[in-house]
Amino acid sequence: MISISEALKIIENQVGKLKAETIDLVEAVGRVLAETVKADMDLPPFNRSQMDGFALKSKDTKDAPVNLKIIGESVAGKGFDGRMKSGESVRIMTGARLPEGADAVQKVELTEENDGFAEITEAAKSGQHINLLASEIKSGTKIFGAGEIINEQMIAAIASFGYAKIKVFKRPKIAILSTGTEIVGISEMPQKDQIRNSNSIMLKIFAGKYGDSKSLPTVKDDVESLTAAIENALENYDVLVTTGGVSVGDYDFTKTVLRDLGAEIFFEKISLKPGKPTVFAKRNNCLVFGLPGNPVSSAVTFYLFARTAILRMQSANNCELRKGFAIVASKIKAAKERDSVLPALVATNAKGELIIESLRFNGSSNFIAFARANALVFVPQGKSLEIGDVAEIMFLP
Ligand code: AMP
Ligand code: MG
Repeated sequence: MISISEALKIIENQVGKLKAETIDLVEAVGRVLAETVKADMDLPPFNRSQMDGFALKSKDTKDAPVNLKIIGESVAGKGFDGRMKSGESVRIMTGARLPEGADAVQKVELTEENDGFAEITEAAKSGQHINLLASEIKSGTKIFGAGEIINEQMIAAIASFGYAKIKVFKRPKIAILSTGTEIVGISEMPQKDQIRNSNSIMLKIFAGKYGDSKSLPTVKDDVESLTAAIENALENYDVLVTTGGVSVGDYDFTKTVLRDLGAEIFFEKISLKPGKPTVFAKRNNCLVFGLPGNPVSSAVTFYLFARTAILRMQSANNCELRKGFAIVASKIKAAKERDSVLPALVATNAKGELIIESLRFNGSSNFIAFARANALVFVPQGKSLEIGDVAEIMFLP
């Protein structure tokens, strides 16, 4: 048996890197940046008013109230082009360019307009209510770098600098193949000995976050159909994720078939609960993750291994789940001979601490508890976690 980190190292050594492509920014969430995003202009691009009011020279308002002659207006999108002299003011709107000669804005609430004059009722300080040119960002500043995964919050910043199209790494084509004679579709009513296929849709969605995922028709536990399905996937996809058929039962054929098809198996046993029989193999450029059929085992092993590989193929900076620490709020039992990675609910308490709430995880088949998980908690082999212990967690994406 190898450790989780040894397994990750082996996978890292086998991952091929995908090339870059240019796509529309609107399609870019979840993609890995393949270029540096830089500011192509100063922001703001001019001294900009933060308020509706009057642009003026602050020294003119020292002895407020004072009356300043209104010589024009500056509107967002159409600024005032003249130069202001002492004793003058320009009506200005939020977002509009500050006229030359002005050094402050007084807000409209502190002014009164009569007969072409603005009465400024309160003195203005130099620079008030103005965002100076380039105070937000200077042209040429690096905003994001290659390897960052683009998220929703980054879109406006990228768009501001003109990237209607963006260079990202290509996504792998990922096939999901659930195996098992007992598996039926989710719209079917399982008959005696049957169970619905929850893995295919779950893994298609997990994999679809960072890849181009497709769920293949399920196959029964027979060598012939398994061989045909796996051969097809090895030829046509960058990644194949299978579930089921990797244990030591008489009808667990996945490994035999992979070997017969010429795939090299790099590991088939990890010190991990759930997920001990996880298989990692490769043929030509296709990586294969043979995950156990149990839904929680498939989910955990997908997150730990397949997700990491999928992001590594795209040269992401952070391929593994984000790690952190939290305080154990209810005892979590260790496994004697394996490290455990268990679904957990991480929350804050009234003291401002991050705590791990038990999901009453009753063995690897408890996939209903998994539905509430927002993290995984690491429980080292043989070392149960007691209330108050600090444990390592991984946040689910
Ligand atoms: P296996 O890894 O094939 O030994 O399967 C382990 C357990 O997971 C068995 O109880 C299976 O019925 C269940 N299982 C296998 N494949 C799926 C699937 N696609 N969806 C839901 N449960 C599954
Ligand atoms: Mg099976």
